[in-house]
Amino acid sequence: MIYDPQSYAIEDKPMVPFIDEGEITRILEGALPTRERVLEIISRSLDKKRLSMHEAAILLNATDPELVEEIKRGARRLKEQVYGKRIVLFAPLYVGNFCSNNCTYCGFRSENREQKRITLTRQELVREVEMLQEMGQKRLILVFGEHPEYSAEFIAESVRTVYGVKKGNGEIRRVNINAAPFDIDGFSIVKQAGIGTYQVFQETYHRDAYARYHSAGKKRDYNWRLTSLDRAQEAGIDDVGIGALFGLYDWRFEVLGLIRHVNHLEAVYHVGPHTISFPRLKKASNAAYDSRWELSDEEFTRMVAILRLAVPYTGLILTAREPALIRHEILKFGVSQIDGGTRIEMRAYSGEGGPQDLDAEQFEIGDPRSLSVVMDDLIEHEYIPSFCTACYRTGRTGEHFMEFSVPGHIKRLCTPNALITLAEYLEDYAANGAKEKGYRLIRKTLDGLGNDRSKTLLEDRLARVKSGERDLYF
Ligand code: SAM
Ligand code: SF4
Repeated sequence: MIYDPQSYAIEDKPMVPFIDEGEITRILEGALPTRERVLEIISRSLDKKRLSMHEAAILLNATDPELVEEIKRGARRLKEQVYGKRIVLFAPLYVGNFCSNNCTYCGFRSENREQKRITLTRQELVREVEMLQEMGQKRLILVFGEHPEYSAEFIAESVRTVYGVKKGNGEIRRVNINAAPFDIDGFSIVKQAGIGTYQVFQETYHRDAYARYHSAGKKRDYNWRLTSLDRAQEAGIDDVGIGALFGLYDWRFEVLGLIRHVNHLEAVYHVGPHTISFPRLKKASNAAYDSRWELSDEEFTRMVAILRLAVPYTGLILTAREPALIRHEILKFGVSQIDGGTRIEMRAYSGEGGPQDLDAEQFEIGDPRSLSVVMDDLIEHEYIPSFCTACYRTGRTGEHFMEFSVPGHIKRLCTPNALITLAEYLEDYAANGAKEKGYRLIRKTLDGLGNDRSKTLLEDRLARVKSGERDLYF
């Protein structure tokens, strides 16, 4: 494949920088949130229809508290009707924090001399993964700065190392990546290591704002960043994650930017992003940003509810940047994945613990609870924590879409697989009280499955987990 950085074209396929700011601004300015329209749009979403940018803009412009409550209620209903109670858990693992870019909001930026720079050696990486396995983690996202040291080959090698670590009953079954974007050949190399999702966040879809925050390094190039996941798709990576860093520019603009990005991927590659992330800006060592665009907690939760309604069948990821209380509130709107037991300082999982050190991490996290506390809390609130990786491993790609659109998929596959991975966790890692609580939730969920064959099959698998078998799935 020949990639032409001038025109962002690959052979006959133009890589179009598909964001038109004028279009987004016009849509936002023209969207009138009458009560009638807002209710009509919510019910379209509850009918499992994806919203147009114009419809989403109407929800974004609604500020009347009663309408805002309708929007949140709509998102809660969509979650209950479609997704049920499962929450997939993962953990981030920072492999290297050298960076040649200078994103003003990030503790890793090249001009931040306070940051302690580290790239994990192979041995250190193995040690971190062992510690994560001992907590019960099965899904990781590897995170890297953007640096010549972190080539596609290096990332692919790190992925292979992680898959190769097996401590006790532990293993990592899915490795996602959050790293700088590559050209097509680079993405192909990473793909061959068997990655899950490749995430690249646009940070802000607004060009001028983007230019202000990204003054150096390759990331300065807005179009290169914007077309990253097109190159990933061209390299055969059809499982991609998009995101915007909320707090860099007007949050309403960013939501429409994300929806435009979804539209683009669906139109060109016939598959939307697997996940959308919506990190909110947090304190970081020597960071600078424009406080005008800070989102209040209320705006942030409203934003997630609108996103849920706008893209009903895309996975939403909520990270430990947010404190536990806000995570609780937002979980009700249909978040599909959260991290638990998160530490983001370099070498933190094998380290001695202690308070967060901003000079050894990218930003401050708000929810540093251990995985066992997060699990306990989820179970207490009758969420089913899941470490499931079955769809991905049986080639059922686009699983989030299937959950949404294939009748019975959740009951037949997702819930049973989630319960099997929960039982594995309870057997191998939970303390006594937590184990009993977890099994009570499993029993209650089983009772709710009625008496069909899938329940009998599941009971059989759960018994096999109890007697020591692992990695069973439908
Ligand atoms: N270096 C890679 C890149 O830029 O794509 C990896 C990204 S970084 C390690 C993961 C994400 O963290 C960034 O894309 C950004 O959205 C987010 N981030 C950076 N600084 C942040 C901050 N101060 N608060 C919250 N999120 C931040
Ligand atoms: Fe580097 Fe990524 Fe941080 Fe920017 S956000 S400074 S690219 S690590």
